[in-house]
Amino acid sequence: MKKIKNLLEKLNKNRSLTLLEYEQLISGYSKEAAEYAAALAVENRKRVYGTDIYIRGLIEVSNVCKNDCYYCGIRCSNKNCDRYRLTKEDILLSAKEGYALGFRTFVMQGGEDPHFTDEFLVDVISSLKSLYPDCAITLSLGERSRESYKALKNAGADRYLLRHETAEKEHYQKLHPENMSYDNRMECLKNLKELGFQVGCGFMVGSPYQTVQNLAKDLKFVEEFAPDMCGIGPYLTHKDTPFNNMPSGSFELTLYLLSIIRLISPEILLPATTALGTINPKGRELGILAGANVIMPNLSPMSVRQKYMLYDNKACIGDEAAESVNNLKRSMEAIGYTVVTSRGDRSLTGFITP
Ligand code: SAH
Repeated sequence: MKKIKNLLEKLNKNRSLTLLEYEQLISGYSKEAAEYAAALAVENRKRVYGTDIYIRGLIEVSNVCKNDCYYCGIRCSNKNCDRYRLTKEDILLSAKEGYALGFRTFVMQGGEDPHFTDEFLVDVISSLKSLYPDCAITLSLGERSRESYKALKNAGADRYLLRHETAEKEHYQKLHPENMSYDNRMECLKNLKELGFQVGCGFMVGSPYQTVQNLAKDLKFVEEFAPDMCGIGPYLTHKDTPFNNMPSGSFELTLYLLSIIRLISPEILLPATTALGTINPKGRELGILAGANVIMPNLSPMSVRQKYMLYDNKACIGDEAAESVNNLKRSMEAIGYTVVTSRGDRSLTGFITP
């Protein structure tokens, strides 16, 4: 424990460790280590963001996907997936409902749906921006060309979430079919950053074939790429995928990694993800207590929520949006945090702005 404590303190001081040290940190997981990491993480997060928790309205715009990622429930060869795509009107209606509930960020997430052309997206983004100029628009629509990202940025999109999934090429190839490439994913992330998006990367904890070395590389990548946001959650099994026999990832390890990521970057926007809330009913609260500061409630129309099933038993598919925001506010207050209504951009100073 002494060694792990020293490593955590070193990370807290330098915001950087070697690959080997990250490996030692991960292998050295213990309940005690996690508690110490969380205490340091919370201290950092409080200095930058106080007790504020940001909320993002997640609109799952389509479960049509041209890709066949082995872990994902909406992969194109899953014949049991009941496909849908939202219309512009559906999306605007979800945003309207969200705005009234206090959301000031809308996240449009979906499969790589060829129907979502630049023309369509530019139209939706500019409409959202003119209706709600005080809101941030986040996209999470997978890999697109640099030109496409540029058009979406010019239309008003502010942020883009594209998890790198794993920072090790060999591991990437075990999770994806041959026509998908690690290099292209990394190229997309680089392009997004160059184009001026606030960018989020991320990975699944406990994805099939993942090793401690892989996770250490993921942490090193987060350190070096210095994203504005980072989405991590446990890998969760989906029955209709080639990985249906693979066990889900560890809840405790995910919490520990959240704390470590907060130490790498005190200013990072770090969600307690839906996957975390799915694997454990107290997942979101415990994620916040480990160092997360963002929660992304579901704003998708009720009729499609059952259909956006990335993994089995996805949480929060029954709650009305209004009900879920109220529950969330209460549960955050109960642990000493406050859900705030603001865009929740990344702090650039590292300190609370008075
Ligand atoms: N198509 C978009 C959005 C993907 S869904 C894209 O490519 O970025 C968002 C994230 O859900 C994925 O990046 C992946 O990390 C996660 N995910 C997919 N299947 C999952 C599973 N079975 N368990 C946990 N997370 C999963």
